[in-house]
Amino acid sequence: MKKYAEELIKFKLRPPEVYALTGYNKRRLRELYKEIHGERPKKGKLALHVNKKVDSLEKNLEIIIFFNVYRKMYPGPLIDIKVDRLIKSYKAYRLISENIIDFSLAYLVLRDIKIGWIKPTKCKWCGKIYLFNHQHPRMYKCLFCHYILK
Ligand SMILES: [Zn+2]
Repeated sequence: MKKYAEELIKFKLRPPEVYALTGYNKRRLRELYKEIHGERPKKGKLALHVNKKVDSLEKNLEIIIFFNVYRKMYPGPLIDIKVDRLIKSYKAYRLISENIIDFSLAYLVLRDIKIGWIKPTKCKWCGKIYLFNHQHPRMYKCLFCHYILK
């Protein structure tokens, strides 16, 4: 798992999340972060959910683009976050998008889908896939046609 741990840290994913994904030694992860970035990871927790991070229409669109890349590469239900899939889909996403979301947010998107906090939903009106969360000011409706799920 060391190869993956290093790659995740290069993407600035913080040690607790890297640990959750790889099980690699916690102290070593913190050292690795400092070695690679020349500074310690920012304190505090990663946002609890995607919600707070998706604070603009552009970001909402970006997380959908990222998820659609992921889904194309790895169809089927998202039961577990596989590190190699997360990394490969993020790299593929970076090739096609301009306002790229950071890796930590991409990770949060998959994690929130996995735990059911956000739900990939096919719009009944326009047929596009969007990410649904009934509590979020932007995610309770289709981003593309604004159809509201009832
Ligand atoms: Zn729609």
